[in-house]
Amino acid sequence: MAVVLNDAPWSTEPYSIQRHGVEITSCDSEPVQTPGCIQSHGVLVAFRLVDLSVLQVSENAGRLLGVDAHYLLGKPLTALLGEAGARRLQVFLTSEPVDRNPLYWRTLTLGEVPAAFHLIVHSNDQVGLLELEPAEPDAADPDYYSLVKKSMVRLQAARGVHEFCQIACDEVRQLTGLDRVLAYYFHEDGSGEVIAEARREELHSWLGLHYPAHDIPQPAREIFKRTWIRPLPDASRALAEMVPLANPDNGRGLDMTYCSLRGASVMYTEYLRNMNVAASLTMSIRHAGSLWGLIAGHHGTATPFSWQLRAACELLAQTVSLQLASVEAREHECYGARMQAVHLATLARVARDGDLSKLVDPEPSLLEGIHCGGAAVYHQDKWSTVGSVPGPSELTELAAWLRPRVSSAATPQPLFATDRLAEAYPAAAEYANAASGVLAVPLSKTARDLVLWFRPAITSTVSWAGNPTESPTVPGPHGPRLTPRASFALWQESVQGRALPWTTAEREAALYLRTLIMDLVVGRVEDLTAVNAELASSNAELDAFAYVASHDLKEPLRGIHRHAALLKQEIQAGRTLDAQAIARLETVTRLTVRMDGLLDALLHFSRVGRLELQPHLEDLNAILTESIEMLGTLAADARCAIRIPRPLPRVLGDRVRIREVFTNLISNGIKYNDKAERWVEVGYIAPDESTELPLASDTPTVRSQTIYYVRDNGIGIAVKHRAQVFGIFKRLHRRDAFGGGSGAGLTIARRLVERHGGLLWLTSAVGEGSTFYFTLTAAEPEA
Ligand code: ADP
Repeated sequence: MAVVLNDAPWSTEPYSIQRHGVEITSCDSEPVQTPGCIQSHGVLVAFRLVDLSVLQVSENAGRLLGVDAHYLLGKPLTALLGEAGARRLQVFLTSEPVDRNPLYWRTLTLGEVPAAFHLIVHSNDQVGLLELEPAEPDAADPDYYSLVKKSMVRLQAARGVHEFCQIACDEVRQLTGLDRVLAYYFHEDGSGEVIAEARREELHSWLGLHYPAHDIPQPAREIFKRTWIRPLPDASRALAEMVPLANPDNGRGLDMTYCSLRGASVMYTEYLRNMNVAASLTMSIRHAGSLWGLIAGHHGTATPFSWQLRAACELLAQTVSLQLASVEAREHECYGARMQAVHLATLARVARDGDLSKLVDPEPSLLEGIHCGGAAVYHQDKWSTVGSVPGPSELTELAAWLRPRVSSAATPQPLFATDRLAEAYPAAAEYANAASGVLAVPLSKTARDLVLWFRPAITSTVSWAGNPTESPTVPGPHGPRLTPRASFALWQESVQGRALPWTTAEREAALYLRTLIMDLVVGRVEDLTAVNAELASSNAELDAFAYVASHDLKEPLRGIHRHAALLKQEIQAGRTLDAQAIARLETVTRLTVRMDGLLDALLHFSRVGRLELQPHLEDLNAILTESIEMLGTLAADARCAIRIPRPLPRVLGDRVRIREVFTNLISNGIKYNDKAERWVEVGYIAPDESTELPLASDTPTVRSQTIYYVRDNGIGIAVKHRAQVFGIFKRLHRRDAFGGGSGAGLTIARRLVERHGGLLWLTSAVGEGSTFYFTLTAAEPEA
């Protein structure tokens, strides 16, 4: 939309206008900085900075000052300002910051028929520029200082960029009294959009109007980047040419970038006329060194913009530019925080229900986070969607195309984003209205599961809101000329199949959501693995219980049954209880005692799995002493020596349970021993000594821990039996051999050690002896 742009031709077609000796062939080559002419309501004098001699004068000097331009050429400025005036100007030039910065110097009465002129001065590359504007007689300017101060306070209160621009438009309109004031924003692609507007009620709104990038040619943008304000008080007034056209010192056209009198492009003024705009005042909004947008005022009749008003607007434009950065930063921050809050809320639902499809459930759904028209989640072989998205089979095909593009092998960031999907993936043209833009993140390394956000085509979301009766073109002296409506149509064409681009903050929010989901999923998998492992071990225990119940416990039961039945028969046969019957009764008693023992061991084992440990820092020597005492006469009866080579360290653990482990291992060492001189040794290996440890090949890494051991010189355990001895009720010998036992001791000892986070294992040489090792804390992960 070119309406605001002074010097900006709006036609996309190359044109050729012979004006002031310059052939203009394309928008971007138009010499807008050196047009060779000025707006003829004032006079421009260019002079040599070194000696104040006149270089160029606008041709209208004769009409406004009564002094012919040719007469002034080459003369010192005294010819125009008088001796005193020229001297004062010299002082002004050296004392004020006038380089590329026009400043009001003074109001002087000048000319053949004396009249008051405001004199505005600046310098540019060894050339002084003096702009003379006729002073309005009796013009009482309002108190601009107070007005601007009030505007600044209002601007400070704005909470977002749109509100900020709206206030800027309102304030400029109030300051200038113009019919319409618009705020334009330049998108990343250079196209523009009207984002705020203040206007006379009867005018059609242009809010939301878009125009293509080439509506504002690069040279015009360059000028807006360097100046704050561009006044065009009377677009229909004829232009006045400079005499001579080029600077005689360097042969170049005069650079009028900073002149408020700079002549406007004919095509632009023609365009304004098409819209019944007679005067325009444009201010630039700059941000971080680039042109962010414009504030443009239009008026239906020619209207003077006094230098005071221009200074006030300039100050406002500077304030707007300065404050914009913080308003925009605040808005980005709010948007970022909102995206995050929505993502966390949806994720909380996912975590609660353990279902990724809950991401698209409402209140809030993904739609309320990153700006989008629709979102889809692919999980467990099905799509869950919200808002406007492609159909299921289209989604599946699109996902197949996206997967290699978001896999970690293809891209450093696991993300794919485009605002013109159909260009890369032509099938998407079919559903451009739903998905011209897509943002995708994978939820796993293989990118099987995905989250997708969709944006509709821009054209489907914006429609022409201007004058409904306006025709696309109107005739002009240089051919048909475009109107805002046509500009809008051109813009629509230029953004065909495109969506609004995804911003950095939005990409980051998508990636962060992905990380959170992955953590959640990985966390759940870990939880599940742990639960599964626990389940597996409980199942194994249950199996063992079932086995024990069916075999080991049944065996004595069968014995009881058989002997009881025989006894019954004998009694029924009328036989008195003879020695055989009594022996049977004794067997029954023995069997029940045995079964009672087995049941006790079984109950104890099951309790070990459930009991709460009471860990304290304990002295192992004391625990060991207690456990030897508990063994009672066993050691003495077996004439077994118990050796303790060095005092044991302190340990964090449950005193009673550790004592049970020692009791079990030591009693086994004493029992399963056929040597004449039996011994059992209890000791430990500190972490730094563990390199000498004769570890079995299947023992895990335990080097960072203290390892305790109970060693004997007994019968030893064959390699093939090493795992079996830890099975419940597993004995390697006849029931009564080696003093008998239930076969539950090692199972329970291992369980107790594991409950402490440690491990229990053994090494052995048959006939020479065995060593049972154990730790009492979890192994630290390897570095
Ligand atoms: P129990 O000693 O009650 O039979 P355990 O679970 O303590 O049950 O031991 C299981 C089996 O492992 C024992 O029956 C024995 O055959 C073997 N065993 C245990 N400790 C030793 C050891 N120190 N030396 C040789 N064999 C052993």
